[in-house]
Amino acid sequence: MEFRISRNSSCPCGSENKYKKCCESKITKEQENYYALLQKSSVIKNKLMACMSNVLSDEQMDFYSMIYHGKTIKESFGEEEFAGFFDWLFLLAKDEKEDLKFLEIIIRDFADMFTSLELEILNEYLNNTQVGFFKIVEIYSDEWKVKVREYFTKKEYVIIDRKLSELVIKGDVFLSKIQKIGEGFYFSGTGVLFDRYKILQIEEEIEDVISQLKESGDNSLYEKYMNNNIPTLMNIDFKIPDFNTISGESLKMCIGEYKVDLNYIQEVLHWIDKVDDVFELMDCDFENNGEFIFADASAILREDDLKKYENESLGGIILKQEILYEDGNKFQFDGKINIKKDKFEIWAQSEKRFEFLCDRVDKGIGEYLEFVGEKKVDIDELDLLENDVDVDEKDFDKNETFSKGVTNEYFEKYYINWCDKKIPALGSITPREALKTKEGREKLSDILLDFENTELHHKKNGNEFFEGSKVIREELDFWN
Ligand SMILES: [Zn+2]
Repeated sequence: MEFRISRNSSCPCGSENKYKKCCESKITKEQENYYALLQKSSVIKNKLMACMSNVLSDEQMDFYSMIYHGKTIKESFGEEEFAGFFDWLFLLAKDEKEDLKFLEIIIRDFADMFTSLELEILNEYLNNTQVGFFKIVEIYSDEWKVKVREYFTKKEYVIIDRKLSELVIKGDVFLSKIQKIGEGFYFSGTGVLFDRYKILQIEEEIEDVISQLKESGDNSLYEKYMNNNIPTLMNIDFKIPDFNTISGESLKMCIGEYKVDLNYIQEVLHWIDKVDDVFELMDCDFENNGEFIFADASAILREDDLKKYENESLGGIILKQEILYEDGNKFQFDGKINIKKDKFEIWAQSEKRFEFLCDRVDKGIGEYLEFVGEKKVDIDELDLLENDVDVDEKDFDKNETFSKGVTNEYFEKYYINWCDKKIPALGSITPREALKTKEGREKLSDILLDFENTELHHKKNGNEFFEGSKVIREELDFWN
């Protein structure tokens, strides 16, 4: 099947010039095919929509919409969701009475609406579409191509898609559909980007399918499952993995509130300043008349606090990065003290650490404090906390510089140490040991690519992050 671009249409390179005045002479056959197909697709899509309104009533459309994403057509918001729905409706949903896919019905009943070439394309859509989790393996943006590998079947495809080749990052995993049309492979509709932890949960979810597949050596079993279950896969309720604190416990924001006797505020501050194995007094302020306003101190981390952090299945480096940066600097401390006027607070991000800090404070300056109450909040309830606790912007900024310093130093050490830790994802050998075998290097490379992928997304989104992958690569001198 060959498609030609009309010489007067806009150029596929995105320049907005006419094709004949732009890339006509330098474009490859494949690229021309891809773009002409894109142009054709929008014509075909409009015809399909027109046919569909003859096949289904508004009520029936709502019925299918409810199946797809639990919303009526009107309620569905956002074009992507909408586009995904129509894609599903044509390719995967079956008419209840006829047990045919709607596209089959349209091809049967409305053939005269389409040209013979369009019908050929529609038949390809129908018969050569495969849903899967596709991992980006290689990107060739000059050629508008991306090499992907299906996560479970390991089948590789070279996808032709200019925008995709510009947008994706190596290591991204998409839930999407691949279509073979003529000689080319194309992504169809919208892809959903998947975090690695979600893939792991999906793996559990479809474990039966996968294990049967492995036994029988039959990929079609899995592929059939994928093609029939896309709404299920889209609607899985993913559990956020157990996030750990730097000291290895599950994350919980704990706040203890006290009243401090302002007559002894100098003693209190002096004590905080003195116990520099636990607290570091970062800032304090008095008004001109000597009246105390605020102080803050970080509960700092010592080498022996830095316990094992690995999340077994993730090789230990991905989630940690995310959680520490997820909600700004308050996650970057293991704990801290805030004092505003006579309100004295101890914050910690795990119960154990909280108890430890409260105990130290109690022994040191307990006589100047009066207990008011305490709060312990799980990570999934953190939104509530946001509204509950008033954080002075000014204090926040002051903490930031300090916290960055502490965190960067901590990360640097963490990633250097990581190189000599036994990592489950590497088969419980250390990254340094993994370098010695081809298999080890491949696994390590995979982990690092995932990690870099996360970092690149942070970068693209303008988030601040620590380039841990760079530290690891430098430490191991590993630059595959
Ligand atoms: Zn051009």
